[in-house]
Amino acid sequence: MQTNFTLAQLADPQVAESEQILRRCVHCGFCTATCPTYVTLGNELDSPRGRIYLIKDMLENGRPADEEVVTHIDRCLSCLACVTTCPSGVDYMHLVDHARIHIENTYRRPLVDRLIRNLLAAVLPYPARFRAALGFARLGRPFAPLLKRVPVLKPLGAMLDLAPKSAAKVSDAANPGTRAPETEKRGRVAILSGCAQPVLDPGINEATLRLLARFGVEVVVPEGEGCCGALVHHMGREGQALDFARRNVDVWTREIDKGGLDAVIITASGCGTTIKDYGHMLRLDPAYADKAARISSLAKDITEYLSTLDLPRLEPKRLNVAYHSACSMQHGQKITMAPKNLLKAAGFTVRDPGEGHLCCGSAGTYNILQPEISDQLKARKVRNIEATKADVIATGNIGCITQIASGTAIPILHTVELLDWAYGGPKPEKIPAG
Ligand code: SF4
Ligand code: SF4
Repeated sequence: MQTNFTLAQLADPQVAESEQILRRCVHCGFCTATCPTYVTLGNELDSPRGRIYLIKDMLENGRPADEEVVTHIDRCLSCLACVTTCPSGVDYMHLVDHARIHIENTYRRPLVDRLIRNLLAAVLPYPARFRAALGFARLGRPFAPLLKRVPVLKPLGAMLDLAPKSAAKVSDAANPGTRAPETEKRGRVAILSGCAQPVLDPGINEATLRLLARFGVEVVVPEGEGCCGALVHHMGREGQALDFARRNVDVWTREIDKGGLDAVIITASGCGTTIKDYGHMLRLDPAYADKAARISSLAKDITEYLSTLDLPRLEPKRLNVAYHSACSMQHGQKITMAPKNLLKAAGFTVRDPGEGHLCCGSAGTYNILQPEISDQLKARKVRNIEATKADVIATGNIGCITQIASGTAIPILHTVELLDWAYGGPKPEKIPAG
């Protein structure tokens, strides 16, 4: 694609990067076929190619974002299916990240939208606040249908709908400290506790700690780590996202200096995609660029790391598992086979739902901010999963677990919970008896 940026504009490294990305696009439109919003809405401006034109026009003319651009960029899930599909290697992820920052810096959203976004950014990344907010949300659940009838309040209704009906037990899996291996030590890793996951489903990291200890891996939960920054990064709040990134880089760098780390383990693929991008996010910060790149190179999804441990093959079980590949897993991190191979080796029968490339509609805060499109994508995802006639669903991202669980009666677990059970851990409560 031809571009017309001035030399003065190109002096801004972020604009220079976006210009390079734009130049790779050859307008072929292959990406439209796999874009969930184009498939759902059928509007070219809700396709990757349409959004690329909108972003190019906005950046090239140095214009503040307007309502049209904001509408179509807000509808983008950042699912990155278009990146997987694009034959020209267009780095849509960093282009849309730039567009979201530009929107945040130049566009004044309507009051209610602003308040809801401020609320999400002030609550979700902080476990104590999030836990307290879920308590209020449970009380407010009966009002969800009422709120969903008022267009500007639909996100609040969606928020209440998504809140779990009961509180998860408080777990010590997120408490700082070192967990010793149960057998001869084979490695030492740090684990991301994160923000929303330990509140919504602490059993995921409990299963991870048990499994790693059983296979000889020392696990550190470092003091001071927290939200990876993904939630606010996808809202264009770059300052807040970079603060989170710097804090985690400092924490993990201290652990490397103390005892070395083979990996930083992440059990939510949405967070994994962001941490693997820390090197890029902090590339313009001379004090952090190298440290952040080192952390990104150590970041591993739990299934990537487990694949290096050569876990023994187990006898087949009578349990059919539909594997839902989160977008951040398959498109963001290009991890497609590791989770399924681990499940098969552990004796599960793995089934692939149709249209596996399409997002379930969770996408960070998308199911709150864009509830109508999100609901359509959820219904489509659930139809495809239920058609497999699986006994349980496995996936690697807490956002997908919450989203899909709200649309089906089939139990949905994190892949590592099934693996922990297969290799000697307790049977997950969600697994049907028998
Ligand atoms: S990230 Fe997903 S929703 Fe956004 S343009 Fe690409 S395919 Fe479409
Ligand atoms: S597939 Fe790639 S090159 Fe083709 S229109 Fe989409 S982004 Fe551009």
